[in-house]
Amino acid sequence: MPKYGNLDELLLKLKGTTFIDNDQYCDAVFDLIENFPAEPVRQEVHAAWRQMDVCEQDENVYECTACGFALQLIVGTPEDNQYNGCPRCLATMDLDAKGAEG
Ligand SMILES: [Zn+2]
Repeated sequence: MPKYGNLDELLLKLKGTTFIDNDQYCDAVFDLIENFPAEPVRQEVHAAWRQMDVCEQDENVYECTACGFALQLIVGTPEDNQYNGCPRCLATMDLDAKGAEG
């Protein structure tokens, strides 16, 4: 999974480290980078709510095109109910339902 960290802090640490020889330099640099504090990067997911074909009494059901999460609404559309994101996969609902199919 991709991670991010403060590159300025990493460069300061590298500049402040003294090395005796090239082998030690490589080991120290790899060690520094591997153990540098970093956070996983959340992948930005874009999706859409697609109305599902289900039995009549449950016809107001929408599916997240990214993860398949089913959202049942009493009235209105997901937009009307301000579901701008998927509660399961946290996708941003900014795609066209037809364009998001795949
Ligand atoms: Zn989802």
